[in-house]
Amino acid sequence: MNAHDLLQSVFGYPRFRGEQAAIVSHLAAGGDALVLMPTGGGKSLCYQIPALMRPGTGVVVSPLIALMHDQVAALRELGIPAAYLNSSLSAAEARAVERAFLAGELKLLYVAPERLLTERFLDLMTRACLALFAIDEAHCVAQWGHDFRPEYLGLNVLHERFPGVPRIALTATADALTRQEIVERLDLKAARVFAASFDRPNIRYRIEEKMDGRRQLLGFLREHPGEAGIVYCGSRRKVETVAAWLSDAGLPALPYHAGMDAETRRQHQDRFQREDGLIMVATIAFGMGIDKPDVRFVAHLDLPRSVEGYYQETGRAGRDGLPAEAWMLWGAGDLAAQRRFIDTSEAEAAFKRVAHAKLDALLALVETAGCRRQALLAYFGEASPPCGNCDNCLAPPRLWDATEPARKALSAVYRTGQRFGAGHVIDVLLGRETDKVRAWGHQRLSVFGIGGELDERRWRGLLRQLLLRGMLATDHEAHGGLKLTEAARPLLRGEETFMLREAAERPQRTRDARRAPASPASGAEALFERLRAWRRQLANDKGVPAYVILHDSTLRAIAEQRPDSLAALAAIPGMGARKLEAYAAAILEVIEGVTPPA
Ligand code: ADP
Ligand code: ZN
Repeated sequence: MNAHDLLQSVFGYPRFRGEQAAIVSHLAAGGDALVLMPTGGGKSLCYQIPALMRPGTGVVVSPLIALMHDQVAALRELGIPAAYLNSSLSAAEARAVERAFLAGELKLLYVAPERLLTERFLDLMTRACLALFAIDEAHCVAQWGHDFRPEYLGLNVLHERFPGVPRIALTATADALTRQEIVERLDLKAARVFAASFDRPNIRYRIEEKMDGRRQLLGFLREHPGEAGIVYCGSRRKVETVAAWLSDAGLPALPYHAGMDAETRRQHQDRFQREDGLIMVATIAFGMGIDKPDVRFVAHLDLPRSVEGYYQETGRAGRDGLPAEAWMLWGAGDLAAQRRFIDTSEAEAAFKRVAHAKLDALLALVETAGCRRQALLAYFGEASPPCGNCDNCLAPPRLWDATEPARKALSAVYRTGQRFGAGHVIDVLLGRETDKVRAWGHQRLSVFGIGGELDERRWRGLLRQLLLRGMLATDHEAHGGLKLTEAARPLLRGEETFMLREAAERPQRTRDARRAPASPASGAEALFERLRAWRRQLANDKGVPAYVILHDSTLRAIAEQRPDSLAALAAIPGMGARKLEAYAAAILEVIEGVTPPA
């Protein structure tokens, strides 16, 4: 069968996405490929379909056991003979898989890298018929990356021992350095590179200033009832408390961090993967290897370390291409804490400079009044127009010219001797004769009482912005007093203007807009819920994650189109031959059981 027929009949999708078609035909024809595609871009099909087209077995190297299990379960659901070899199998089970492999009974075999590199398995492969090698999460070979896996360094042996077998390396980690390391270490100099755009158009980015974190989070979660999502926190303790109060608030939340025992962690990850609508409250220890397609939101309650980190974490939302949200709260206090953490660490000066620069880039993203996506993609070297699907595009923030107040604040800091914190400086600006003001004689300064145009809250906001933009600095050696920096000069000399965002009084509601395209008549919503319940039951019986049965996107399409025949059902994306055979009758029954709206 050709690639397109396989896509339709086996996977039930009408067309390839982006570069998939080109990658599939390149690989099927025996070429090597390096595929850079964002999470959710559809990397798996790029090697699964060529493996079906070529004689023999496609051997897939994957670092994550849980991921292998779900991929293999999903392939079997599609009627594709697939298996895995990793430490979770007993010796007898492993032997059975090896026999099937040698007998040519498998189309896809997932293998952990340490297993692949054993002499025993290398020898086995010389006796088997090999369709291709797929190296998933190829960035694990990069020694400077945070996912480095030493076993990946041995994978160039595949090329040496099996030069005639095409190889495809895949990753969602984009930066140039990592790309170069992959090419060199995996010996892929002759491979064709397929680099997709890293844009994730279905993810809506929203960034808000932290005011009342709990209330803001609850408000956000209320926009996602019954949906699965991840809430990232900056510390283990915070994970515990947030998970506890969400549970108290009646929300299905589970904690996850590296300090928990391995068994509980595994259980929580498993439940998140398998059950519908759980909220995982976690540190960044959670995420790698989660390929749950229907994560509807990722919330950050604390600032991530870098834009790369933010993009990787938010990328776990919306792999299925349906609308998803990345929502972040940030506070100036967190930022100051991270700066202090970097400054007081034992690291080398060069490392500290990099860490500060990464924080600056993140700050620019947080502060921008322009399109968030544009800023994000620009960071990864990709130009793009404003997206229309981020908070700033949807509700452009208003700016006001704060040049004059900013100059007043800077001179108040200067005239009071660059040794006081924000509270005292504001007292002086507002002309408050406190004891401290009198003790220092500050009521006699020319700046005393010149700041009547703003109230205390807005002065605080302004000083924070001056700090954030580096025009003021906190003097940690001198009790945290504020002092001027070089960067303040142009503003003081009147050579620069200082624009500020109008603080959002209330976080804006975006649910209605977000749901609009997908929001069908209420009858469809009811049908969708019924289909989900049916799927949950079935997934439970089979012991597989719900999305392995059918994806949310497929259920949504069914709920909206209400197919009333086998033929109509077959036209729904995601309903391949095997799924039709197994589920068509039950699905049509569920549809009949839910009356359409009058
Ligand atoms: P990645 O590994 O790149 O994160 P996956 O291979 O898991 O992405 O695919 C992401 C989702 O997109 C899956 O749910 C997959 O079934 C779906 N998908 C992939 N290719 C297509 C396609 N051509 N048409 C429709 N859905 C697709
Ligand atoms: Zn935008």
